[in-house]
Amino acid sequence: MLDPLHRIVKEVNAASDLQEVLQIIVQQVKQTIEVDVCSVYLTDFERRSHVLMATDGLRLEAVGKVSLPYHRGLIGLVCERAEPVNVADAPSHNRYLFANETGETQYKGFLGVPIIQNPKVLGVLVVRQIEMRTFADNEVTFLFTLAAQLAGAITHAQASGQLVTSEETAPPKRFLQGRPGSPGVAFGTTVVVYPPADLDAVPDKKVQDPDVEEEEFRTAVAAVIQDLMALEDRFEDSLPAEDRALFDAWLMMLGSDSLIGDTVQRIHQGHWAPGALRQTIEEHAKVFDAMEDVYLRERASDVRDLGRRILMHLQQSVESQVEYPQGTILVGDEVSAMQLAEVPKDRLAGIVSARGASFSHVAILARALDIPAVMGMSDLPVTRMDDRFIILDGYVGRVYVSPAPSVLQEYRRLAEEDRELSEELQVNKGLPCETTDGVGVPLYLNTGLVSEMNTTGIEESAGVGLYRTELPFMVRDSFPGESVQVANYRKVLRTLHPRPVIIRTLDIGGDKPLPYFPVEEQNPFLGWRGIRISLDHPEIFLTQVRAMLRAAIGLNNLRLLLPMISNVDEVDDALALIQRAHDELTEEGYDVSMPKIGVMIEVPAAVYQVEGLARRVDFLSVGTNDLTQYLLAVDRNNTHVADIYSDLHPAVLRALIQIVAGAKTYHREVSVCGEMAGNPATAVLLLGMGVESLSMNSGSLLRVKWVIRSVSKARAKALLQAALRCERASEVKALLVNALDDMGLGGLIRAGR
Ligand code: PEP
Ligand code: MG
Repeated sequence: MLDPLHRIVKEVNAASDLQEVLQIIVQQVKQTIEVDVCSVYLTDFERRSHVLMATDGLRLEAVGKVSLPYHRGLIGLVCERAEPVNVADAPSHNRYLFANETGETQYKGFLGVPIIQNPKVLGVLVVRQIEMRTFADNEVTFLFTLAAQLAGAITHAQASGQLVTSEETAPPKRFLQGRPGSPGVAFGTTVVVYPPADLDAVPDKKVQDPDVEEEEFRTAVAAVIQDLMALEDRFEDSLPAEDRALFDAWLMMLGSDSLIGDTVQRIHQGHWAPGALRQTIEEHAKVFDAMEDVYLRERASDVRDLGRRILMHLQQSVESQVEYPQGTILVGDEVSAMQLAEVPKDRLAGIVSARGASFSHVAILARALDIPAVMGMSDLPVTRMDDRFIILDGYVGRVYVSPAPSVLQEYRRLAEEDRELSEELQVNKGLPCETTDGVGVPLYLNTGLVSEMNTTGIEESAGVGLYRTELPFMVRDSFPGESVQVANYRKVLRTLHPRPVIIRTLDIGGDKPLPYFPVEEQNPFLGWRGIRISLDHPEIFLTQVRAMLRAAIGLNNLRLLLPMISNVDEVDDALALIQRAHDELTEEGYDVSMPKIGVMIEVPAAVYQVEGLARRVDFLSVGTNDLTQYLLAVDRNNTHVADIYSDLHPAVLRALIQIVAGAKTYHREVSVCGEMAGNPATAVLLLGMGVESLSMNSGSLLRVKWVIRSVSKARAKALLQAALRCERASEVKALLVNALDDMGLGGLIRAGR
């Protein structure tokens, strides 16, 4: 049963619309488990009925017309229970309902499985048999797996407006749900970005001039033919003729009219070449996938490989043509920092990523740039999302595709309120950041690109609390040399002088790979990252530290921060290397001085050894993003577990209290530079704990300042005490939202006032 399942899943993935998916499923299921009927019913929630959407075995004229009552019949029972119903003799069941309109006879065997998406039952996949039949366990799980596929396809179809079960106008509140990435509301036109040479990721686009498109396509094919012939020549002496026949087979495919002809035909139907190619390749590969013969089935991967090669050449010719309209909303399976950097800043209105979560680095970058973003939108039909008008709500992680006029109107109103609120925020500009009872809380800036440091950030901050050096490393194609780095760091140090600037040494690995320093690992977050790479590559570390020390000559506002520390040896070794860099530079005649040095507390081990670490350095900076990830064992980028990633978890709050106490033992300054510091609600809790300063993206500075200026230290402490009585993150969150609403500051954490 595994083989047909794989085949069907592949076919379903390649289908171009929901109707095709439904058709594939009903036909293949009927054939595979040898039943008399296979049908799909989808629930129409407004009309409270289950509509027959596809069938193989019942009357085709009934499709789309017949609907069964919501709470009655065996279909209703499957929906109610959200569990399979497997009955050998359906007519004798007390919930049996005979549906004459579908042309059914009295089928006895009945198996219905619910189609579920995020606890909602969307419909039922059902098989029927004239004779009595109890379906076996493997048949039930077979249907289960396909129902899960169907659920994804249905959600895509609903989101893109392909599927409207009710005949009324489109439901006004249709949206896709993801994770909040960066606050704010955006309206705009989507531009799908995708990794190069990834055929599956190519989006559908309409073409302006099919003749030009055809020419580009044919040029790409000619280039692949050239490549293959050159390869074949190269292997002439080393490969036996029968193995080299593979090249001939490929060349034959490229010469044949079907692959090329089909693509050209699609181009002339209005598709751009990469999209037409993707569809053709999938169609052809599917034919091979469906073959029982293992050898022939393998040919599917040859077809896909050829497709990728053609795409590579096509992309070389179209790459420069990517146009970002005003109000671009960048959409992708996994939007990367580099793709984001390619869009002119004044054109970028929002970001939607199918993968990643609120604490992924792209989300952090979006917050730094003050661009609304939604992450982890796993139901997003990425390839069908190009050039669509969408509304994005970054506060709650929602996207409305082709929204109804009423939704658009409502969001325009909320966006206007947001704009008014930002104007009100300006009132606090230049005022001291202190509580109503006079406790000063310096707010620092998190940054990583000088270009992202706007005037508010520069004017409002007490300095830079976290300069992430990996960003300038990521946008290059090799490690930057010492003098390039000196120039980079000096720019920040000079801009903020005489305020302090905390520069963190390279924190690559985890979700921050460098394209030119690939690290392939099973568990990247538990692997080679941060200080571990730096200590294993002292040449990279020393170059960086030397650059920092040189950049600070005459300015003396540098502080240095070590990431991912999990034991004291790492600190001792890093300190020794920093001292060495200092001494070497002095010997070379540079007038460098030793900066203050701090460690990041972002691994549970560091929490439990906080005194030992504090004793060795000048200050501590808490990375709550990673600390939450490691304390709760929840990957900060993983959409599936995003619901249980929360920096308000009671364990995180207690860890923070322990860190502050440990730092105080040695009179060390402790600040927080994770996203928790930039959230107006959580910032209050940190204040209550005795955290001395907070570091955040520039977009958060005035928001956090507002809340700090509206609260007393005593109230913050009382709120913390109340939070510590909660056993769940959700209770802490509710407590904080209430407190902000009480202060009239609820608008800081949602769309509108
Ligand atoms: C953190 O982990 O909280 C942190 C500030 O570092 P980064 O987000 O860069 O991992
Ligand atoms: Mg971190």
